[in-house]
Amino acid sequence: MAILIFFVLHWYLSLFVQTFFLHRYAAHKMFTMNPFWEKAFYLLTYLAQGSSFLSPRAYAILHRMHHAFSDTERDPHSPHYSNNAFTMMWKTKNIYNDVLNHRVEPERRFEGNYPMWPALEKLGDSYFSRIGWGVAYVLFYIAFATQWWMFLLLPLHFLMGPVHGAIVNWSGHKYGYQNFDNNDKSRNSLFFDFLTGGELFQNNHHKLPNRVNFGVKWWEVDPTWPVIWTLDKLSIIKLKPVKVKAVRTKVNA
Ligand SMILES: [Zn+2]
Ligand SMILES: [Zn+2]
Repeated sequence: MAILIFFVLHWYLSLFVQTFFLHRYAAHKMFTMNPFWEKAFYLLTYLAQGSSFLSPRAYAILHRMHHAFSDTERDPHSPHYSNNAFTMMWKTKNIYNDVLNHRVEPERRFEGNYPMWPALEKLGDSYFSRIGWGVAYVLFYIAFATQWWMFLLLPLHFLMGPVHGAIVNWSGHKYGYQNFDNNDKSRNSLFFDFLTGGELFQNNHHKLPNRVNFGVKWWEVDPTWPVIWTLDKLSIIKLKPVKVKAVRTKVNA
C-alpha cells in the first residue's frame, strides 16, 4: 500500500509541476505570480521531479521551439522523425543538454521571460543530487515493498520527468482525434486526461497556445485547470485577463 501511495504521489506531483510550472508558467507565461510563490513552485519542482529535475529555462526554450517547428525536422521531439519513443527522447535529451549547458545558442525569440534560480539549477543537475534522489527511492522501496515485482517500478521514479515527456510527445502527436487543423500532427489522445494532467490535449493546445484550460469542448476535461482556477481565486497566481474583442454597436439616431 505504501508503495502504491508513493508511486501515485510521485507520478501526479511530478506531473503537476511539469504542466503547471514548467509548461504553462515558464514556457507560456499564462499567468503571473510574485517572486515568493515563484521560488516556492521552483523548489517544489525540484523536490517533485527529484532525480529527473528539468531546468525551467531549458524546458521553456525547447518547448517554444516545439511550438514553432511542430512536426517538422526542427521540432526537438516529433514522433514523425524518430523510430520510437526512446530514440525521440534521446534526441530531446541531447538538445536539452546543449541548451542547458550553453553549447548551442537558441534563436533570440525563444529566450527570456522564464524563471531563473542558478544555485538550484546547479544542484538539481548535479550527480550528487540525481544519484542522491535515486538512492532515496531505492531505500524507500527496500523499506516498504512487499512483492519483488514492485522494484520494477523504480526506473519510472528515476526518470519520471522524461517518462511523462515521452508519453505526451509521442502519443499527443500520433494517437487520438483532432478538433483543429494546425498544419501539424498534434492530437487529443483522451477525453479526460487523468494520465498526464491535460497535456494530452496537444491538438487543442497547439491551436490555442495561450489558453489555460486545455479542454476546449465541454466534454474535454483538463484536470489541472480547476487547480489553476483555485490558485487564482486564492491570489497565489494571477491569470492574465482574457482579451475580449471590442464590440461595436450601431446606434440609430
Ligand atoms: Zn505538441
Ligand atoms: Zn505548449
